[in-house]
Amino acid sequence: MISVAQASAEILKLAPVLGSETLSLSEAQSRTLAQPLAAKLNQPPWDQSAMDGYAVRRADLAPGKRFAVIGEALAGQRYAGAVSPDQAVRIFTGAPVPQGADWVVIQENAERKGDFVSFHDDALKGKSNIRKQGSAFADGDILLEAGTRLTPRALALAAAMNHATVTVTHKPRVAILSTGDELVRPGDTPGPDQIIASNAVGLAAQIAQWGGTPVDLGLVPDQDDAIRDALTGAQDCDILITIGGVSVGDYDRVRPVLDALGVTQSFWKIAMKPGKPLMAGRWGDRAVLGLPGNPVSALVTAHLYLQPLIKQALGQTDVMPATATAPLGAELKANGARQDYLRACFDEDGALVPLPVQDSAQLTGLARADGLIIRPPDAPAAHHGDQVRFHPL
Ligand code: AMP
Ligand code: MG
Repeated sequence: MISVAQASAEILKLAPVLGSETLSLSEAQSRTLAQPLAAKLNQPPWDQSAMDGYAVRRADLAPGKRFAVIGEALAGQRYAGAVSPDQAVRIFTGAPVPQGADWVVIQENAERKGDFVSFHDDALKGKSNIRKQGSAFADGDILLEAGTRLTPRALALAAAMNHATVTVTHKPRVAILSTGDELVRPGDTPGPDQIIASNAVGLAAQIAQWGGTPVDLGLVPDQDDAIRDALTGAQDCDILITIGGVSVGDYDRVRPVLDALGVTQSFWKIAMKPGKPLMAGRWGDRAVLGLPGNPVSALVTAHLYLQPLIKQALGQTDVMPATATAPLGAELKANGARQDYLRACFDEDGALVPLPVQDSAQLTGLARADGLIIRPPDAPAAHHGDQVRFHPL
């Protein structure tokens, strides 16, 4: 058995190499930049008014003084001339600041009479209300690094930088094969001794969320031929996930079949709970993860190992599952030799309380849990109010 830290490090080495493609911004939501993105212009492109008001020369301002209003500057239509002493240009938000002017008095501090304007004493205070050319970013500045996941905000920034397209990594295709004689699809009528296969549904949704394309290879019985035949469908995938049949029982046929297909095992069994029997390996260029069949084990190990594997393949920089700390809202006994992940919910005071049932077959608790409290191997007893580390869900 290897530690969680060792398993995490080994998993990252299995990440497949993905190509890239160029997409329009409207197609690039949640994708990962394959190349750094440099601004194609200055922002703002010229000194720009941040307010509606009057553009003047700062040195010209004096209490009670009258200025001749010589024209207008609009967003999209600059005032072509220059501002001389004793002159002001009516200006609106987003307009280029006319030549000669270095100050915009907001209209709330202006007294307009016909073609003249004078200003309250407040006009001299505060700031210029001018955004200097290139003050947000300059032509050539790299504002989005390779590996950035394109959130709506990052896409808006890419657009402001004057990019219509971006080059992103391909989405990894992640094949999922569910194994077990007892499995039937959700919605089917289970026969005697059968159960509903729930894992592939949760995994496919997680894979899509993390940036992969799930490919469901369906359900197969615990038979070598059936497993092997189904795995031909994984050949054009970047990552293969098997579910179930990876433990030590007589009918756990996944490892022997993978072995016969030429999968080289990287490790099998992690000192953690739930999820101990996880197996990882390489099949040509593909990464292989054999997840345990218990639903909580499958989804928790996917969170801890499949998530970073997908993100690493995408070239993202921050690939490890997020952690945070919170006060504990219960008493915990000293932990055993395996790293434990306790399904927990926040109480009204913001403390994390482990759910009473921690069975790795029970999806009920996992579905409503706010986080997984991390209990390191041999952690001492923990008490109400102690800070505990957890993975937010
Ligand atoms: P295994 O890892 O094959 O020993 O399976 C462990 C437990 O998980 C057994 O109770 C299985 O019936 C159950 N199980 C296996 N695969 C799935 C699945 N895809 N969905 C839900 N439960 C499963
Ligand atoms: Mg099984």
